[in-house]
Amino acid sequence: MSFQELGLSSRLLNAIEDQGYTQPTAIQTRAIPAVLGGTDILAAAQTGTGKTAAFTLPLLEKLGDKPQKKARVLVLTPTRELAAQVAESVRTYGAETKLRTAVVYGGVGYQPQIKAFRQGVDLIVATPGRLLDHLDSHNVDLSGVDTLVLDEADRMLDMGFIHDIRRVLKYLPSVRQRLMFSATFSKDIRKLATSILNKPIEIDVAPRNSAAESVDQRVLMVEKSRKRAALSHLIREGNWVQVLIFTRTKHGANRLAKQLAEDGISAAALHGNKSQNARTRALASFKQLDTQALVATDIAARGIDIDMLPHVVNFDLPNVPEDYVHRIGRTGRAGADGQALSLVGPDERKYLKDIEKLVGGQIERMTLPDIDLRDGEAEPGEVNDPLKRSKNQNNTASQNKNSGKHHRGNAKTDERHPDKSNANKPAQRRRNSPGGGKRNRQRRGRAGQDTR
Ligand code: AMP
Repeated sequence: MSFQELGLSSRLLNAIEDQGYTQPTAIQTRAIPAVLGGTDILAAAQTGTGKTAAFTLPLLEKLGDKPQKKARVLVLTPTRELAAQVAESVRTYGAETKLRTAVVYGGVGYQPQIKAFRQGVDLIVATPGRLLDHLDSHNVDLSGVDTLVLDEADRMLDMGFIHDIRRVLKYLPSVRQRLMFSATFSKDIRKLATSILNKPIEIDVAPRNSAAESVDQRVLMVEKSRKRAALSHLIREGNWVQVLIFTRTKHGANRLAKQLAEDGISAAALHGNKSQNARTRALASFKQLDTQALVATDIAARGIDIDMLPHVVNFDLPNVPEDYVHRIGRTGRAGADGQALSLVGPDERKYLKDIEKLVGGQIERMTLPDIDLRDGEAEPGEVNDPLKRSKNQNNTASQNKNSGKHHRGNAKTDERHPDKSNANKPAQRRRNSPGGGKRNRQRRGRAGQDTR
């Protein structure tokens, strides 16, 4: 099946080609014709399956080329980051149309959003809370909206947005088509679907709770006090250029980002206590490979979409096993290779057992001979600590068979470019990335500053 056969017009096909997509993904093959046909949809698709294009492409097709007076499509997302990303996708795929998109979320000023509404918008991507503020203040008119998308509906339920969603629905008198995307079909999601959707087609592309096959999953058993040393070692010895690290708490994210910086690794924290501008800046810098390590909490990282993110690390295991699947879904996206490593302390064995039950098998254990993983050993920075090696020594060490052995994705890169410095890698990865086209880079830069 090709994109042409799915019934998309040339202005969208050009944008798809520009992105380097050659074939629709499974969710796109199923959802695009269904959305074009006008039916309601309940789709189980995790982030990383190409679900955003699965609804934005057919919706852009239906919106046509010409702007209209009133907004016609509303997309609700659980987080600001996801809203920004969906809007970015709409702008990328709709580059050859004159359609106008507004992205609306909290943490930033109201005025630019009000200005955008006044100028006229065709498609609104919003988080529920801020949108309700605008609706209650009569800043925006949604009476012309005929299509509603609930993206990551399971997350919206988890985050307690159900009442907000129901209130927004009251402002949408003329909705005819509703699309609901969720990582899983839980009991609550089915209940919500029954109350909102009208005879939906069910699409379930990914086996539920199974992690993407292209993700190389590993577990390193390590004492809590040695996690930071082990992580710094892996990042530096493996020359990791881009790693998303999860911690359970905001405080933990701040502390780890600071510690990594002390170990000479450029790092930033991303969590709900940061201002929206700080979050946008941290994400943009990470995407551009200026920041090596982004340390995030689950909520803040929800929906982050980075082309070919090579490494995800669970510094703390999530206590909800489903969050493990969400987290590792940040890597190995749309068929790209990726590595997900979990640092598991003795007190986290139970969480690991629950996760392995959910993913249906034992996750491979790795070892780290260069680092003492037991408690009470030397702290990083003390004599004999491998982290104290100079940069040159590190590069030599990165060719050491022990460090390469466990890191499939990165080892490949290093084999092709054995003398590669970090400075050379970003250009290489951007060129190869499906989203690395010139137009996309320009848009990405703009989205980084997007505060509407
Ligand atoms: P999503 O599941 O929407 O978060 O998309 C995950 C990633 O897949 C994004 O980086 C998209 O740019 C990329 N993507 C979407 N559709 C395709 C496709 N047909 N072929 C290759 N990559 C794609």
